[in-house]
Amino acid sequence: MSQDKTTKKEVIRLPSFMTVRELAERLNLPVTDIISALMKNGVSASVNENIDYETAAVVALDLGFQTKLEESSEKDTEGEKSVASGDLVPRPPIVTVMGHVNHGKTLLLDAIRETNVVASESGGITQHIGAYQVNVGGKMITFLDTPGHEAFAAMRARGASVTDIVVLVVAADDKVQPQTLESIKHAQEASLPIIVAINKIDLPNARPEKIKRELSEHGLVAEDLGGKTICVPVSAKTKEGISELLEMILLVAEMEELKANTKTKACGVVLESHIDKGKGVQATILIKEGTLKLMDNFVVGEQYGKVRTMENFLGERIKKAGPSTPVVISGFSNLPNMGDILRVVSDEQEAKEEAAKIIKARRIKRLSSFKRLPQKEKEYELKIVLKADVGGSLEAIEEELNKIGTEKVGVNLLKAGIGDITESDVLMASLGKGVILGFHNKITPAARKLAKQKNVKIHLYKVIYELVDDVKKMMLDLLPPQIKEISEGRLKVLQIFRAEKTEFILGGKVISGRLIKNSKARVLRGNQVIGEGVILNIKKVDKDVLEIKEGEECGIRFRGNVVLKTEDIMECIREEVLPKSL
Ligand code: GDP
Repeated sequence: MSQDKTTKKEVIRLPSFMTVRELAERLNLPVTDIISALMKNGVSASVNENIDYETAAVVALDLGFQTKLEESSEKDTEGEKSVASGDLVPRPPIVTVMGHVNHGKTLLLDAIRETNVVASESGGITQHIGAYQVNVGGKMITFLDTPGHEAFAAMRARGASVTDIVVLVVAADDKVQPQTLESIKHAQEASLPIIVAINKIDLPNARPEKIKRELSEHGLVAEDLGGKTICVPVSAKTKEGISELLEMILLVAEMEELKANTKTKACGVVLESHIDKGKGVQATILIKEGTLKLMDNFVVGEQYGKVRTMENFLGERIKKAGPSTPVVISGFSNLPNMGDILRVVSDEQEAKEEAAKIIKARRIKRLSSFKRLPQKEKEYELKIVLKADVGGSLEAIEEELNKIGTEKVGVNLLKAGIGDITESDVLMASLGKGVILGFHNKITPAARKLAKQKNVKIHLYKVIYELVDDVKKMMLDLLPPQIKEISEGRLKVLQIFRAEKTEFILGGKVISGRLIKNSKARVLRGNQVIGEGVILNIKKVDKDVLEIKEGEECGIRFRGNVVLKTEDIMECIREEVLPKSL
C-alpha cells in the first residue's frame, strides 16, 4: 500500500512533559543511562526533575529510540474516563504535499482547494491559514497548505506529528530530484504512507512511466510494476486526475484506520501565528485529539490562555471543533511558536500551573546548556547542520567532513540536507548546539531571524575547501589554549623591605638565569611551592630595569598570594601559548 521500504523501528510515545524517571521507564532503561545521555546533551537534571518532550526526544534518539509525541494527555481528569476504545471515532486524514521545487506542489494544493472547497452561504472565503479541508462525497480530508518539507521538518524537530499521509509530487516532464529523495526520506523516517502524484501530465513531454521506473529504484514500486505504491497521474493545471488522487487518499486513510477521541480535552499543534490589527494575536491550531470549545482554558508553549474566538478555515465563526480540524483562535497573550502543542486544561489555575512547569523545564534546559560536560568518547565535538544546493555537493562535503575528525575533536553531522537554510535547520542547530553550514544556497528571512534569536551561527560557502578549512578552524577553536611554562631563572630573597597585604618590596640575588618584569613568579620554600604572583617591577640600584641576570642583586616589587620571608626562592616563569593542533 504505502512505500515498500518501511522503517521497522519501534516508535516510543512520550508525553509533552515527564520526569527523568518516567523517561527511563518508558525507554525501559536504567535512570543512570538517561542522566548520562542528558549530560552528554548538556542537560543536567535529577531523577525527579521535569524535562520537556524536545529534550527527551533528543536524548532518546541518542539512545537509539524513535519517539513521537503522545497525542492526548493520558492524565484525563475528573469525570472523564481515560480513552475508552468506544470513544474513538474515525477522523479525517491530515495530508502533507512534498516534492522537489517547481514540480507543482503549490498549484496542486490550489487546484484541490478550488475544486473541492464549497464556501458556505454565509459567504466565507478561504483564508490561507496553514491548512484547509475538502469534502469528498461526505468525507473530509485536511491538507496542510504550506507545501514542502520545511514546515514538516520544523514540526518534527519539535516533536509535533501533524501528518498521516504524504503526497509526493513528481513532475512527469522532469525526473526524480534531490528534494524528491529527501521527501521520501522524511516520510519514511516518520513511518508515513506515501502516495505519488505524477504531475504535469498535460505537458507533451510528460513521461509518467519513466518517473515510475526511477521511483522504483528508490524503493517506491508502483502497483503496475508489481509493487505497492499508489501512483496517480495528475495535472494541477487542467485538474485532470485530482478526484482520483483524493479517492486514493481516502482509501489509504481507511486502511490506516485513523481514529481520535472526540470526548477528551482537546490538544492540537500550532501551524502558524500572526497578529491581526483588529483581533490581536491569532494562531491556527490543528486539532489532534478531543474537541476544542470556546472559552476552553489552555496552555501552549510557555503561555496560557482562553479560547476567546474560533473560526474555521473559511473564516466562519464556530463554537467547537473536533480532531483533524484546522481552526483560527484568539485568546493568547503572546505569539505561540509554530510546532508548539496547545493543550486544554480544566481551569485557569491548572493552566497557570502547567505553564509554570513548562517554563521551569525549559529553564533547566537553558541553564544547563552552559554547563556542557565533555563527552566520554571525544572530549570536544563540532556539531554541524549542513545544507547544500544539490545532492552531489552534499555527499562530497560529507565525505570531506568525515575525514577530518581526530582523537581530540570530532565532527558530528546533526543533519545534512538539500535546499536553502530554513527555520527547521536553525531549530535543529539550536537544539543540538551546532553551527549551520550552507553551500551554494541562501538563508530564508525567517531562518535568519530565528538564528539571531537563538544565537545560532550560519556560514555560507561557495568552495568546498574553504568550508573544510573553516571547519578545521572551528574545531581548533573548541580546544582550550595550551600553555607551556618555561622557567627563566631563580632569585633568592635576601631582605623584605616592605610587606603589605599582597604586595612586597624585597631585595634579592639572581642565583640562576634571569628575572623578567611583568612575568609570573612562583615562590618556593625549601622544595615546596608555597604560592605565586607577578613581578611588578625590578630596580637595579636606583634604576628601573626590564630584566636582571644571574649574579646580580636587585629590588623587586612583587604581588602574590603568599607572605614572603627571607631565604624564599622566587622562580620567574615565562608562559608560552603553544599553537593548537587537531
Ligand atoms: P512548487 O515549487 O512545487 O510549489 O511548484 P509550483 O506549484 O509553484 O509550480 C511550478 C511551475 O509549474 C509553475 O509555473 C506552475 O504553473 C507549473 N505547473 C504546476 N503544475 C503543473 C501542471 O500540472 N501542468 C503544467 N503544465 N504546469 C504546471
